[in-house]
Amino acid sequence: MSVAWKIMEEATEVAQATPPTELHAAITNALRGVIDPELGENIVDLGMVRSISLTDGLATIEIALTIAACPMRSKLESETVHAARRVPEVSDVKIIIGAMEKEERSALMARARLLAQDRAVPTDIPISARILGIMSGKGGVGKSSLTANLAAAIAASGATVGLLDADIWGFSIPRMLGFLGELEVQDKKILPMEKSIGEGLLKVVSMGFLSDEDDAIMWRGLVLNRALQHFIEDVKWGALDYLLIDLPPGTGDVQMGLARMLPRTELLIITTPGLGAQKVAGRAADMARKGNLRVAGVIENMSGFTCDHGEFYPLFGEGGGERLADSIGVPLLAKIPIDPTVAAGGDRGEPAVLNPKSPVAPVFTALAHRIITEIAPAIDMQSCSARMLEQIDSALNAS
Ligand code: ADP
Repeated sequence: MSVAWKIMEEATEVAQATPPTELHAAITNALRGVIDPELGENIVDLGMVRSISLTDGLATIEIALTIAACPMRSKLESETVHAARRVPEVSDVKIIIGAMEKEERSALMARARLLAQDRAVPTDIPISARILGIMSGKGGVGKSSLTANLAAAIAASGATVGLLDADIWGFSIPRMLGFLGELEVQDKKILPMEKSIGEGLLKVVSMGFLSDEDDAIMWRGLVLNRALQHFIEDVKWGALDYLLIDLPPGTGDVQMGLARMLPRTELLIITTPGLGAQKVAGRAADMARKGNLRVAGVIENMSGFTCDHGEFYPLFGEGGGERLADSIGVPLLAKIPIDPTVAAGGDRGEPAVLNPKSPVAPVFTALAHRIITEIAPAIDMQSCSARMLEQIDSALNAS
C-alpha cells in the first residue's frame, strides 16, 4: 500500500472518530504556529501533522518527523502541546511521534522547495549563520540597546556577528556602537562597516549610514519593506556566525517581510516587567507566529533598579518577562536591570557589556552565552533536513 493511501486511511479513521468540526479546524490553525525550525515553515503546511482527534478535551496529535532521531523532536513536541492548548476546549494533549517514510520525506522536501521558491530572495547571508530578530511590542523598552549589547557580547566571545539595523525609521544602532560614516559600495553590493571586538568581529549595516540621524524618514510600509529587501539582497556580508536584526517595534510590514524573505529567522521578544508592556509584547509574539516566525525566547529589560545602598526598586513592575515567556511557552533568557551605564554607554558609543565597571556587563555576557550554548539553533548543519535545505538554497541562488 502506498504511503499516501496509508495516511489517507489513517486520516479517514480519525475523521470518523471525530467528525471535522470547527474545533478540529481551530486546532489545525493553532498548529500553524509551530514552525519546523530547519525548513522555516509550519508543520501543518509541511504535511507533518498526520492526524488530530479530540475526545473529552484530550487532543491526540500524530506528528511525522523527517527521521525519528530528529534533534528538534522535543522542541517540536513541546511547541505542539503549547499551541494546541491555546484552543480553549483543549484541556490535555497527547503527542504521537512517527517517522516519515522515504516517499513522505521526498514529498515534504518538494513542498519545502516550492515554499522556498515562493518567497526566496537571493542573499549573501551564509546558510550556516544563525539569524536572530530582536523584536518588541512597543518602542522605548530598550530593544536597540539590548541588540547592540548582545551583538557586542557575542562578538566578544570570538564570533563574527552581523547586525542589520532594520529599525529603519528609528535607527539608533550606529550611535550606540560608535560607528560613524557612510557605507561603501563595491560591485553594486553594500559593504557593512566592521569593528573588531576582542577576538571577534562586528559587521553593521544601518539606515543611519545612508541618511542623517536628524532626518525624519517618513517612509510608508511598502518602502520600508523594500529597504529591508534591499539590505537582505544587496549587502555583501562575507563570513558570518550570527546575524542579529534590530526590528522596528510592533508587528508591521518589516516583520512580515522578514518572515517571507528570511523564514529561518528566530525571534527574541523584549518586554519590560509591567503588565501593559507584557500584553503588547504577547500580541506581537502572536502575530509573529501567525506570520510563521519562530520565537526562541523572551528577554525582560529594565527589571528594577538597585540603589547604592543595595535597596531594590521594581520601578516598572515585576514578573512581565516570566508571564510572557510562560504564556508563549519559551524560556525567559535574561532579566536586565536598569542601570545608568546602559544609557551612558549607548550615548557614548561604547556598549555597557564592554565596560568592566558596568554591573550589567555580566548579565549581557551570560545572556550571550545562553543564546550560544543553550538555545537550539534554527539550522543544525548535521541535522536531518539541513543538508537538503542547503541544496535547495544553492539551487535557488544559482537559478
Ligand atoms: P527601543 O529600541 O526599544 O526604542 P532603546 O534601546 O532606544 O529602546 O532604549 C530607550 C532608552 O532607555 C534609551 O535611552 C536607553 O539608553 C535606555 N535604556 C535601555 N535599557 C536600559 C537599561 N537596562 N538601563 C538603563 N537604561 C536603559
